[in-house]
Amino acid sequence: MFNLVLFGPPGSGKGTQSENIVKSYKLLHISTGDLLRDEVSRHTPLGTEAKKYMDQGMLVPDEVVIGMISGKIDDAPDARGFVFDGFPRTRPQAEALDKLLEFKNTQIHLVLSLEVPEPDLIKRLVGRGATSGRSDDTEEVITKRIKEYHLKTQPVAHYYNEQGKLEQVTGDHTIADTFKALTKHINKYLLPVA
Ligand code: ADP
Repeated sequence: MFNLVLFGPPGSGKGTQSENIVKSYKLLHISTGDLLRDEVSRHTPLGTEAKKYMDQGMLVPDEVVIGMISGKIDDAPDARGFVFDGFPRTRPQAEALDKLLEFKNTQIHLVLSLEVPEPDLIKRLVGRGATSGRSDDTEEVITKRIKEYHLKTQPVAHYYNEQGKLEQVTGDHTIADTFKALTKHINKYLLPVA
Protein backbone atom coordinates (compact mmCIF):
# COMPACT_ATOMS: atom_id res chain seq x y z
CA MET A 1 0.00 0.00 0.00
CA PHE A 2 1.01 3.60 -0.59
CA ASN A 3 -0.66 6.32 1.44
CA LEU A 4 -0.28 10.00 0.69
CA VAL A 5 -1.45 13.10 2.50
CA LEU A 6 -1.99 16.14 0.31
CA PHE A 7 -1.51 19.05 2.65
CA GLY A 8 -2.13 22.76 2.21
CA PRO A 9 -4.36 25.72 3.03
CA PRO A 10 -7.91 26.16 1.71
CA GLY A 11 -7.71 27.02 -1.99
CA SER A 12 -4.25 25.55 -2.52
CA GLY A 13 -5.57 23.07 -5.11
CA LYS A 14 -5.67 19.89 -3.02
CA GLY A 15 -8.96 18.73 -4.52
CA THR A 16 -7.88 19.22 -8.14
CA GLN A 17 -4.48 17.61 -7.66
CA SER A 18 -5.95 14.71 -5.65
CA GLU A 19 -8.21 13.90 -8.60
CA ASN A 20 -5.18 13.86 -10.92
CA ILE A 21 -3.13 11.72 -8.56
CA VAL A 22 -5.79 9.07 -7.89
CA LYS A 23 -6.40 8.68 -11.64
CA SER A 24 -2.72 8.32 -12.48
CA TYR A 25 -1.76 5.98 -9.67
CA LYS A 26 -5.08 4.15 -9.13
CA LEU A 27 -5.40 5.20 -5.52
CA LEU A 28 -8.54 6.02 -3.55
CA HIS A 29 -9.40 9.65 -2.84
CA ILE A 30 -10.59 10.46 0.66
CA SER A 31 -11.65 14.09 0.98
CA THR A 32 -13.17 14.90 4.35
CA GLY A 33 -14.63 18.12 2.89
CA ASP A 34 -16.48 16.13 0.19
CA LEU A 35 -17.56 13.45 2.68
CA LEU A 36 -18.90 16.10 5.06
CA ARG A 37 -20.72 17.97 2.27
CA ASP A 38 -22.30 14.66 1.26
CA GLU A 39 -23.51 14.10 4.84
CA VAL A 40 -24.88 17.66 4.89
CA SER A 41 -26.78 17.21 1.61
CA ARG A 42 -28.29 13.94 2.85
CA HIS A 43 -29.36 15.65 6.12
CA THR A 44 -27.82 12.90 8.25
CA PRO A 45 -27.32 13.58 11.98
CA LEU A 46 -23.57 13.82 11.33
CA GLY A 47 -24.20 16.29 8.49
CA THR A 48 -26.52 18.45 10.59
CA GLU A 49 -23.90 18.62 13.36
CA ALA A 50 -21.03 19.31 10.92
CA LYS A 51 -22.89 22.07 9.03
CA LYS A 52 -22.93 24.30 12.12
CA TYR A 53 -19.13 24.41 12.06
CA MET A 54 -18.61 24.44 8.29
CA ASP A 55 -20.87 27.45 7.72
CA GLN A 56 -18.75 29.41 10.18
CA GLY A 57 -15.44 28.35 8.66
CA MET A 58 -14.56 26.37 11.77
CA LEU A 59 -13.19 22.85 11.90
CA VAL A 60 -15.65 20.06 12.63
CA PRO A 61 -14.79 18.31 15.95
CA ASP A 62 -12.03 15.70 15.66
CA GLU A 63 -14.11 12.75 16.89
CA VAL A 64 -16.74 13.34 14.18
CA VAL A 65 -14.16 13.42 11.39
CA ILE A 66 -12.06 10.54 12.73
CA GLY A 67 -15.12 8.26 13.02
CA MET A 68 -16.09 9.06 9.44
CA ILE A 69 -12.58 8.35 8.08
CA SER A 70 -12.23 5.10 9.96
CA GLY A 71 -15.32 3.73 8.20
CA LYS A 72 -13.99 4.76 4.78
CA ILE A 73 -10.66 3.01 5.31
CA ASP A 74 -12.40 -0.16 6.47
CA ASP A 75 -14.68 -0.09 3.40
CA ALA A 76 -11.68 -0.54 1.05
CA PRO A 77 -9.55 -3.47 2.23
CA ASP A 78 -8.07 -4.07 -1.26
CA ALA A 79 -7.09 -0.49 -2.05
CA ARG A 80 -3.66 0.14 -3.58
CA GLY A 81 -3.52 3.09 -1.25
CA PHE A 82 -5.22 6.33 -0.27
CA VAL A 83 -4.82 10.00 -1.00
CA PHE A 84 -6.00 11.95 2.03
CA ASP A 85 -7.23 15.42 1.05
CA GLY A 86 -8.16 17.90 3.77
CA PHE A 87 -7.31 15.36 6.44
CA PRO A 88 -5.62 15.26 8.92
CA ARG A 89 -6.27 18.87 9.83
CA THR A 90 -5.27 18.77 13.51
CA ARG A 91 -2.56 16.99 15.44
CA PRO A 92 -5.07 14.64 17.17
CA GLN A 93 -6.42 13.72 13.71
CA ALA A 94 -2.87 12.96 12.52
CA GLU A 95 -2.22 10.77 15.55
CA ALA A 96 -5.56 8.97 15.07
CA LEU A 97 -4.75 8.35 11.40
CA ASP A 98 -1.37 6.85 12.32
CA LYS A 99 -3.15 4.47 14.71
CA LEU A 100 -5.81 3.49 12.15
CA LEU A 101 -3.16 2.73 9.53
CA GLU A 102 -0.92 0.90 11.99
CA PHE A 103 -3.87 -1.35 12.73
CA LYS A 104 -3.90 -2.19 9.01
CA ASN A 105 -0.13 -2.80 9.05
CA THR A 106 0.50 0.26 6.94
CA GLN A 107 1.40 3.93 7.36
CA ILE A 108 1.53 7.38 5.76
CA HIS A 109 4.47 7.25 3.37
CA LEU A 110 4.56 10.80 2.07
CA VAL A 111 3.06 14.22 2.83
CA LEU A 112 3.10 16.73 -0.02
CA SER A 113 2.48 20.30 1.05
CA LEU A 114 1.14 22.72 -1.58
CA GLU A 115 2.61 26.17 -1.04
CA VAL A 116 0.53 29.08 -2.34
CA PRO A 117 0.87 32.76 -1.27
CA GLU A 118 -2.06 33.92 0.87
CA PRO A 119 -3.37 36.71 -1.44
CA ASP A 120 -3.63 34.13 -4.25
CA LEU A 121 -5.59 31.76 -1.98
CA ILE A 122 -8.18 34.40 -1.17
CA LYS A 123 -8.50 35.40 -4.83
CA ARG A 124 -9.02 31.77 -5.87
CA LEU A 125 -11.57 31.03 -3.16
CA VAL A 126 -13.61 34.17 -3.75
CA GLY A 127 -13.56 33.36 -7.48
CA ARG A 128 -14.72 29.80 -6.83
CA GLY A 129 -17.50 31.13 -4.59
CA ALA A 130 -19.18 32.68 -7.62
CA THR A 131 -19.79 29.24 -9.16
CA SER A 132 -19.25 26.57 -6.49
CA GLY A 133 -22.54 27.02 -4.68
CA ARG A 134 -20.58 26.34 -1.49
CA SER A 135 -22.06 28.28 1.40
CA ASP A 136 -18.59 28.67 2.96
CA ASP A 137 -16.99 30.42 -0.03
CA THR A 138 -17.89 33.96 1.08
CA GLU A 139 -15.07 36.36 1.92
CA GLU A 140 -15.95 36.43 5.64
CA VAL A 141 -15.99 32.64 6.01
CA ILE A 142 -12.88 32.24 3.83
CA THR A 143 -10.92 34.53 6.17
CA LYS A 144 -12.06 32.39 9.12
CA ARG A 145 -11.06 29.16 7.33
CA ILE A 146 -7.57 30.51 6.68
CA LYS A 147 -7.29 31.57 10.36
CA GLU A 148 -8.31 28.06 11.47
CA TYR A 149 -5.71 26.68 9.08
CA HIS A 150 -2.89 28.70 10.64
CA LEU A 151 -4.01 27.98 14.18
CA LYS A 152 -4.89 24.27 14.05
CA THR A 153 -3.73 22.74 10.77
CA GLN A 154 -0.26 24.22 10.25
CA PRO A 155 1.12 22.25 13.26
CA VAL A 156 0.32 19.05 11.35
CA ALA A 157 3.12 19.93 8.88
CA HIS A 158 5.54 20.00 11.79
CA TYR A 159 4.24 16.62 13.00
CA TYR A 160 5.07 15.00 9.65
CA ASN A 161 8.30 16.93 9.21
CA GLU A 162 9.55 15.43 12.47
CA GLN A 163 8.85 12.02 10.93
CA GLY A 164 10.84 12.99 7.81
CA LYS A 165 7.79 12.62 5.56
CA LEU A 166 7.08 16.23 4.53
CA GLU A 167 7.94 17.63 1.09
CA GLN A 168 6.98 21.12 -0.11
CA VAL A 169 5.75 21.77 -3.63
CA THR A 170 5.04 25.16 -5.18
CA GLY A 171 1.32 25.32 -5.90
CA ASP A 172 0.98 28.61 -7.76
CA HIS A 173 2.07 27.45 -11.21
CA THR A 174 -0.34 25.89 -13.73
CA ILE A 175 -2.33 22.79 -12.72
CA ALA A 176 -0.20 20.68 -15.08
CA ASP A 177 3.13 22.01 -13.77
CA THR A 178 2.07 21.53 -10.16
CA PHE A 179 0.95 17.98 -10.94
CA LYS A 180 4.32 17.25 -12.54
CA ALA A 181 6.13 18.52 -9.45
CA LEU A 182 3.96 16.30 -7.22
CA THR A 183 4.55 13.20 -9.37
CA LYS A 184 8.34 13.62 -9.06
CA HIS A 185 7.97 12.92 -5.36
CA ILE A 186 5.35 10.17 -5.67
CA ASN A 187 7.35 8.29 -8.32
CA LYS A 188 10.01 7.54 -5.71
CA TYR A 189 7.43 5.22 -4.10
CA LEU A 190 5.00 4.19 -6.81
CA LEU A 191 4.86 4.38 -10.60
CA PRO A 192 1.83 5.76 -12.45
CA VAL A 193 -0.57 3.24 -13.97
CA ALA A 194 -2.27 5.59 -16.42
P1 ADP B 1 -11.04 23.83 2.06
O1 ADP B 1 -9.80 23.02 2.07
O2 ADP B 1 -11.18 24.63 0.80
O3 ADP B 1 -11.27 24.64 3.28
P2 ADP B 1 -12.68 21.46 2.51
O4 ADP B 1 -13.68 21.01 1.53
O5 ADP B 1 -11.49 20.63 2.73
O6 ADP B 1 -12.30 22.91 1.97
O7 ADP B 1 -13.37 21.72 3.93
C1 ADP B 1 -14.55 22.48 4.07
C2 ADP B 1 -14.97 22.52 5.53
O8 ADP B 1 -15.25 21.20 6.00
C3 ADP B 1 -13.89 23.04 6.51
O9 ADP B 1 -13.90 24.45 6.60
C4 ADP B 1 -14.31 22.35 7.82
O10 ADP B 1 -15.41 23.00 8.41
C5 ADP B 1 -14.80 20.99 7.33
N1 ADP B 1 -13.71 19.98 7.32
C6 ADP B 1 -13.21 19.35 6.24
N2 ADP B 1 -12.24 18.48 6.59
C7 ADP B 1 -12.13 18.57 7.93
C8 ADP B 1 -11.30 17.93 8.90
N3 ADP B 1 -10.36 17.01 8.54
N4 ADP B 1 -11.45 18.27 10.19
C9 ADP B 1 -12.38 19.16 10.58
N5 ADP B 1 -13.17 19.82 9.73
C10 ADP B 1 -13.07 19.52 8.41
